[in-house]
Amino acid sequence: MVEIFHELDGELSILNDKTISIIGYGNQGRAQALNLRDSGLNVIVGNIKDDYWRIAINDNFSVFSITEATKKSDIIFLLLPDEVMNDVFEKKIKPNLKLESSLVFASGYNIGFKLLKPPENVDVLLIAPRMIGVGVRENFLKNEGFFSFIAIEQDFSGQAKKVLLALAKGIGTLKKGAIMLTFKQEAELDLFNEQAFGPAFGRVLLSSIYTLIDAGYPPEAVLIEMYMSNEMSFTYKKFAEIGLVKQVEFHSQTSQYGAMSRGIRFRKLPLKPKMAEILKEIQDGEFTKEWEKSITKLKFKMIKYFATKTKINQLEKQVRKSLKLKEYDIYEEEAPSEEEMAKLKSISNELKLFEQYYE
Ligand code: NDP
Repeated sequence: MVEIFHELDGELSILNDKTISIIGYGNQGRAQALNLRDSGLNVIVGNIKDDYWRIAINDNFSVFSITEATKKSDIIFLLLPDEVMNDVFEKKIKPNLKLESSLVFASGYNIGFKLLKPPENVDVLLIAPRMIGVGVRENFLKNEGFFSFIAIEQDFSGQAKKVLLALAKGIGTLKKGAIMLTFKQEAELDLFNEQAFGPAFGRVLLSSIYTLIDAGYPPEAVLIEMYMSNEMSFTYKKFAEIGLVKQVEFHSQTSQYGAMSRGIRFRKLPLKPKMAEILKEIQDGEFTKEWEKSITKLKFKMIKYFATKTKINQLEKQVRKSLKLKEYDIYEEEAPSEEEMAKLKSISNELKLFEQYYE
């Protein structure tokens, strides 16, 4: 049975004599630091000296180097980008951890796939909001909360669950609900959404757009109809608020009949076997192994470059201009250098497939 925790499950007073440091005052860092402080907890910030440092000072936090903040704290939130976390952890955090302190992550990736190895004498906790940082703050201020996935990887102190639920309450997630998983499950769900649902949805969207463009409809009208109006994001919001099927009541009778009667034709799309294949690669760690290779970073640069050539980018640029919307520079991603191309020679056949895919 899944365990779901709410407001009464967390007891803030057990954190009264604890110092909490937020390492990384970015999207999640700022929101979580402000929420924890507004919940009456003792919060400091650890950051490199950059714009985020200044923002934290402006928000009236005591700000220290990452090393100093770690030394002063009992609870350390690691709110750095996942790809730099391991390096910062090894150099600045691990050597300065107090015995029985708690390390708190906002993503299960590094621990779930064993890329970051914490010492045995600390608690290792996860509070992963299903919400961007700005939403974490706004929903706290509105007293509504937000969903999170939480987990305990190590319980050295014997108090890990109490500390985790108190912190979850302080951040504001228990107002909505926190679901207990493992670090690996959280990471897998996140990766699956990004790698299976996201691209499959993208293909469906593009197929719809090109069906209409090829039939002669003006691109401006097509992009507005398909996504630029925000109508779809409103509908998506209604999925969450009242239910996937129930929300049809917001649409006309004609719309409902059309969608329901035609929907049956898409029943046999071969999506589930592909999605199961992607999920298995994630679960087996195959994806993580691939992403950790240094050549993959270069391959990624190349794929991104191909993606900028895709027809929708040009089409969107033209439509945004004619609708007088702000234009973005995604359309002109820097081409890889000759030296980089030479390094990619061993995977040139694979890259050719990506080039064709984005043509
Ligand atoms: P950000 O990209 O906003 O960066 C966080 C902070 O890390 C910034 O202060 C940044 O400063 C600092 N930073 C970056 N590189 C380094 C470095 N090499 N050394 C020291 N500090 C560095 O991160 P997010 O808030 O988006 O993500 C934090 C965690 O939250 C991740 O684990 C992520 O998976 C998780 N998460 C994020 C969500 C989101 O909506 N963004 C949602 C749920 C979870 P600077 O850029 O100036 O270097």
